[in-house]
Amino acid sequence: METRLDRYEGAREGKIEQLKELIASSENIVFLGGAGVSTESGIPDFRSGEGIFNQDSGLKYRPIDVVSHTFFIEHPEEFYDFYKHKLCYPKAKPNKAHKALVRLEKQGKLKAIITQNVDGLHQMAGSTNTIELHGSVKCNYCMDCKTRYDLNFILDSVGVPRCTKCGGIVRPDVVLYEEYLDANNEEDAKIAIHMCDLMIIGGTSLTVYPAAKYVEYLTHNRVVIINKSSTYLDLQALLCIHDSIGDILDTVVPKRARSKKANDSKESSSKDARAKTKANSKAASSNSMTSSKSKSVSKKKGKNEKPNSIEEGNND
Ligand SMILES: [Zn+2]
Repeated sequence: METRLDRYEGAREGKIEQLKELIASSENIVFLGGAGVSTESGIPDFRSGEGIFNQDSGLKYRPIDVVSHTFFIEHPEEFYDFYKHKLCYPKAKPNKAHKALVRLEKQGKLKAIITQNVDGLHQMAGSTNTIELHGSVKCNYCMDCKTRYDLNFILDSVGVPRCTKCGGIVRPDVVLYEEYLDANNEEDAKIAIHMCDLMIIGGTSLTVYPAAKYVEYLTHNRVVIINKSSTYLDLQALLCIHDSIGDILDTVVPKRARSKKANDSKESSSKDARAKTKANSKAASSNSMTSSKSKSVSKKKGKNEKPNSIEEGNND
């Protein structure tokens, strides 16, 4: 029987082999990722020493205050100046982590990616079932007539971007401080986690809401953590690897795709998988790796629950 000591003294190669075996024995994997997934694409995180919150914003306001709903409403010019320069990375490309997750989905094993990042790199890489908890800089809409705009429209605008149809402010579809997560996204994330047979957590130190609470919806302890720094779940996880998320995933997910026939027999469309997951969620047992065993995954998040922010969890 594996002990905690084994987990920490195991060589990197041994852990990689163990992760390969865990993936091989799983058919419903969920990946939960934070800022550490995107830093390898050159996108800075928020809270580290070089993070966005510790950079000189060039403003008289703290960066952490600028990404709040109140600031956005009261100081839209300053908000967009900061937003365009510090939160949008249009030239960023998917890295080894994003690409390995695409391969894992094509093998029929990865059923959902739950990300706290707003850069849209998972979709750019080709992942089809990505739950963007904090929204995406690539999605923008007029606050008055709801017309949608792309990222270039925001970046090409001078000052506050205005709707070409009605003149309303075009805002990014990202969750700022004091705003709420999309209830459907939260629901989908909870159900995906509840139904998975392996959860891989990468690029987040799990120190803040909401990622930290999501492990409560697991029905088992098959959790793998891949993060450069330690997390509070390290000792509870089945496997913990303190390393680059891109290097590890690139190593453990083979590049040679299986035959189409094999994929077809394993894989249903992401839409079907999600529908099936929802249908089965209530029947699943509730044997969480945390103490919150009785929590229901089908509970909708109400508007009166704790606000979230664009950056929560992105602190590696
Ligand atoms: Zn409009």
